[in-house]
Amino acid sequence: MKRAPIAVPSLIAAKRDGHELGAGDIRAIVGGAARGEIPDYQLSALLMAIVWRGLTTSELVTWTTAMIDSGERLRWDRLGAAVVDKHSTGGVGDKISLALAPLAAACGLTVPMIAGRALGHTGGTLDKLEAIPGYRTALTTAEIGRVLARAGFVLAGQTARLVPADRALYALRDATATVESIPLIASSILSKKVAEGARALVMDVKVGSGAFLPEAARARALAHALIALGGRLGLPVRAVLTDMEQPLGAAIGNAVEVREAIDVLRGGGPADVRALTVRLGAEMLVLGGVARDRRDGARRIEAAIASGAGLERFRLGVRLQGGDPRAIDDPSRLPRARHRRIVRAARRGVVARVDAGLLGRAATLLGAGRLRKEDRIAPGAAIQLHAKAGAPVSRGDALATVEFDDAARARAAGPLIERAFTIGARVPPRRPLVLQTF
Ligand code: URA
Repeated sequence: MKRAPIAVPSLIAAKRDGHELGAGDIRAIVGGAARGEIPDYQLSALLMAIVWRGLTTSELVTWTTAMIDSGERLRWDRLGAAVVDKHSTGGVGDKISLALAPLAAACGLTVPMIAGRALGHTGGTLDKLEAIPGYRTALTTAEIGRVLARAGFVLAGQTARLVPADRALYALRDATATVESIPLIASSILSKKVAEGARALVMDVKVGSGAFLPEAARARALAHALIALGGRLGLPVRAVLTDMEQPLGAAIGNAVEVREAIDVLRGGGPADVRALTVRLGAEMLVLGGVARDRRDGARRIEAAIASGAGLERFRLGVRLQGGDPRAIDDPSRLPRARHRRIVRAARRGVVARVDAGLLGRAATLLGAGRLRKEDRIAPGAAIQLHAKAGAPVSRGDALATVEFDDAARARAAGPLIERAFTIGARVPPRRPLVLQTF
């Protein structure tokens, strides 16, 4: 049956003027976007109207349900374990998913983690994993099922049939400055999580200069929106507000972040990366009914690190997705950039600030992220931090090592990296890693 044409200009005008859109109109727009039937200029105008006017609760539920219904919905109940996922709103040096997914699987959960690519100044889990020689992130639905059944977790990209409406809308949002809208972010994230088959979700909502929504009030509003929307969709969401004022860990880049995640699975790694992995893992185990409480959950994740069970799962997952498992045991097999430059402290004092936003932008310029969608990632490009907030330094001490292949890119990134470090006279107040749990 031929579909009735959609009067998109009048819907844009209605949203522009602050009116609520009807459920039928929303379904027509979202479905039309997924099928490529609505011109980009009309969708872009509507998205901008939503950025300004927002969506009412009922509009948001209909919008998100229409996004889910635009593609296939995966189900993993046959695997017989609680299906729980974790998602981060995006940050700099955020490699938590790489160790967390196999650890949660080793503790008895099924984790169908559909991850994303570098976006703006933030890194992408898929780009990091692709630094492992041979690793395939573009899996079919059948392959996702096979990896999940054997490894208990999968770390892969969105298939063409999973929320195609988000694919279309997200690409437009990225190009039209319409990403920063709480209802659009909430619907984009949760539609993918429901469609991938998650039955519960832990959300790591980042706050600080390296986050999408740097201000705490906006991040809190996003956490509340995710919990409320999850409730309406039958997806319990636990949100943890975490610090992204300075990068997580010491490594920013792709191959270097894989190395750091492997360190965590081996029982080492930077204290903040390890602590956040354990904390978010504990929340996942509680949500999935595997752990009695957060303490019990943390104990189980720690045990999966100590026994090597998490590392074993990671090795298995990498192998099942075509990656070279030898790179896990011998990280020197991961790509490395050819050149190094050390950024040194210009004076004596205490590191007062390490600006995650600036370092994320610098890493993107180096080639660890993308300036344009079609850009190729340089897997070895990296910034390794030697000092974080609170560290005492003398003049000439190494603050960071820049690893690069392309000298012009390193020259462009250099001033941002230098500016990212503020050296003061006094120890700055300690910012907690976990600011709030909802
Ligand atoms: N991540 C998503 O998947 N969608 C958004 O809108 C923002 C971050």
